Amino acid sequence: MSDKKMAVLEKSNAEPGMELAERPVPKPREGEVRIAVRSVGIDGGVEGPFYRWEKSFHRYEPHLPQIFGHEFSGVVDAVGPDVPNWEGGERVAVEPRFSCGHCQNCREGRQNLCTEVSGFSPHGRKAIGIDKDTPGALAEYVIVPARNLYRLPDGISFDEGVFLELLAIGVHAIEASTFGVGDRVAVTGPGSAGLSALIAANEAGASEVIMIGTDVDEEMRLPTAEKMGATETRNVSAGPLTNPVDVFIEASGHESALKIAEQSTRPGGEIVQIGVYHDDRVPVDLTGLLNEEVSIQTINGRREADWRRTLALAQSVDLTPVVGPAFELTDYESGFTAEADREGIKIVLNP
Ligand SMILES: [Zn+2]
Repeated sequence: MSDKKMAVLEKSNAEPGMELAERPVPKPREGEVRIAVRSVGIDGGVEGPFYRWEKSFHRYEPHLPQIFGHEFSGVVDAVGPDVPNWEGGERVAVEPRFSCGHCQNCREGRQNLCTEVSGFSPHGRKAIGIDKDTPGALAEYVIVPARNLYRLPDGISFDEGVFLELLAIGVHAIEASTFGVGDRVAVTGPGSAGLSALIAANEAGASEVIMIGTDVDEEMRLPTAEKMGATETRNVSAGPLTNPVDVFIEASGHESALKIAEQSTRPGGEIVQIGVYHDDRVPVDLTGLLNEEVSIQTINGRREADWRRTLALAQSVDLTPVVGPAFELTDYESGFTAEADREGIKIVLNP
């Protein structure tokens, strides 16, 4: 057998940057498939800080070298043993988190909370392109468990396909919340998670969705929120809403935004927390929330049903405003610069 090589973008050293390299094309084992990667996202909370080698990521040093890339889409290129239902040639989006398929949560469709498969991520779960023994999609090919595949509907581009796992978080937020048709919704943080929540709320029948951002969002992200259906955009400096909403989705991970949420959710309403805080503990006015019977729902990842709903709704929503610009993998430096400069919502590279 010939040892075919592929181009990868690898991080080998504990310093800023990544390097193009050649590695053997991997072979799928039992239960796995090989994906020819067509599009891979740069996550401002994962690949971006790894690339810049930000201090909070230095604990990863013993894991280098690593090929990152956990948001991606592509074509099934080779199928390992014991993989029914996939033949090769199918266009797919991919759930990046591993799950065992047999723990209680997996069996109940909550594979996002699998209790069996542990990994390096802060939430303790293993993910493609993050854990040491699972090279990611900043490469021409990547190996993934067949159970993590979702067929990409016709009419959804590979670049848009990258956004589906993010959109599924927004769908999860709405599905898991007390949201009902006609409810008024506010969202803090117009990044990919917040915009996904906005899209999901609109599709689910919100009467109003208010997107709240900061000064750096005024130029691009708040106007993008308008394009994606926000009925109002505002700067967080304007303070709490005068007309509190039924469901407040906090997608920024900033303490100040949670404070606005506490003051802007109606009695009996709900705060949905998607944003990840950098500090482990965050002050919450629990007594204030208790007095008004405001509940807090936390969201982590996507469940099986969220993927199904996301694939359905993605066919009727134009996702192009939230995807791109796109760069060739070899032009990765431009891609990471664009991500650092907040030039788009979801910057993608095309291997
Ligand atoms: Zn499990």
